[in-house]
Amino acid sequence: MTADGTTWVIRGARPLGGEPADITVADGAITGIGPGAAAPSGAQVLDASGLIALPGLVDLHSHLREPGREDAETIETGTLAAALGGFTAVHAMANTDPVADTAGVTEQIWRLGRAAGRCDVQPVGAVTAGLAGSRLAELGAMAESAARVRVFSDDGHCVSDAVLMRRALEYVKAFDGVIAQHAQEPTLTEGAQMNEGVASGRLGLAGWPAVAEEAVIARDCLLAAHVDSALHICHVSTAGSVEIIRWAKSKGWRVTAEVTPHHLLLTDDLVATYDPVYKVNPPLRTATDVAALREALADGTIDCVATDHAPHPVEDKETEWAVAAHGMTGLETALRVVQEAMVDTGLLGWPEVADRMSARPAVIGRLAGQGRPLAPGEPANLVLYNPATREVVDPATHASRSRNSPFAGMTLPGQVMATFLRGRPTVLDGKPA
Ligand SMILES: [Zn+2]
Repeated sequence: MTADGTTWVIRGARPLGGEPADITVADGAITGIGPGAAAPSGAQVLDASGLIALPGLVDLHSHLREPGREDAETIETGTLAAALGGFTAVHAMANTDPVADTAGVTEQIWRLGRAAGRCDVQPVGAVTAGLAGSRLAELGAMAESAARVRVFSDDGHCVSDAVLMRRALEYVKAFDGVIAQHAQEPTLTEGAQMNEGVASGRLGLAGWPAVAEEAVIARDCLLAAHVDSALHICHVSTAGSVEIIRWAKSKGWRVTAEVTPHHLLLTDDLVATYDPVYKVNPPLRTATDVAALREALADGTIDCVATDHAPHPVEDKETEWAVAAHGMTGLETALRVVQEAMVDTGLLGWPEVADRMSARPAVIGRLAGQGRPLAPGEPANLVLYNPATREVVDPATHASRSRNSPFAGMTLPGQVMATFLRGRPTVLDGKPA
């Protein structure tokens, strides 16, 4: 995990997509950025002409499945997938088995992440014991543990009890924590199979209404304001949710939000294939929702992109739609999808991509050494990315132990060529270093 002492000279990279520069890295930190850097003897020189340099990406929302579902993913394979996607830090969601609802389990996940060494693994703690939604988990003990948990979420489940949600928001104020809500009113989504709308009517599948998400977001924004605490909304998926968050932010309330790559690119029309690779929670929505989400990410109403990387083994996905598991893999394709949906459409430039995929998620996740600018003296967490290539997505080539990518077969731009974690390459030449 520590810097290995190698000095690197990265030649001709374009920091944040700007003018080419040489980036020198030594002892885990960036030591210089500018034209024509001299290579000290013993330095490794990397030709990065044409590549964009971005700060290492930070994911607020991934499911690494360990402990408990190592058939779907392990911290080893999940962090390798993350590094190949350009990530230097990921938040690991709490819905493992056992649930990450104690200091012991969160420390175990944190230590496994350190041992894997591919990227920083920051455990998310459960809000309620066992994700059962009936009493608060040991939030303070998790915060004080070696894992220093600051983000708490029952993700996969909604904290639907308003009193519990209020207590959780109040509790985390003591250590500057944040509650990340999976907004889904369970009584409105019983038996729901896909977004409620024209497509669900046509396909005869039970609808998952937008209001099930929006009602919880509205309630929780009001609760966060009432107790002056920090709320983060996971995987925003509807145009109405965007309007509520925009309103809450206009009040100055401490509300942040994320959107997934798949909700920025895919629509519920894909459900007509009945291919469960498109089954996800929250469901894929309409083209109108996708347009609103893109606009909100561009104008900052939605703070960041988070993958909701949710690997599942073949037997849980390649089955009938009604019984298939929810979720999609995303770590290895996130930056490429964001280029397709946001950059190539002219909605975001590369400096804003760095903001939405590195700086802001690091701030929301309380990660001090991540999401920093590309500047001398800063930790050398960075990704070198080739935006000029286009290739068909083939999950068989992915490092994730699971194959459930909804982008399989699509042609997407871009390739991560190298990732550095505190000056040490985790990916070189597009392959594990
Ligand atoms: Zn969720």
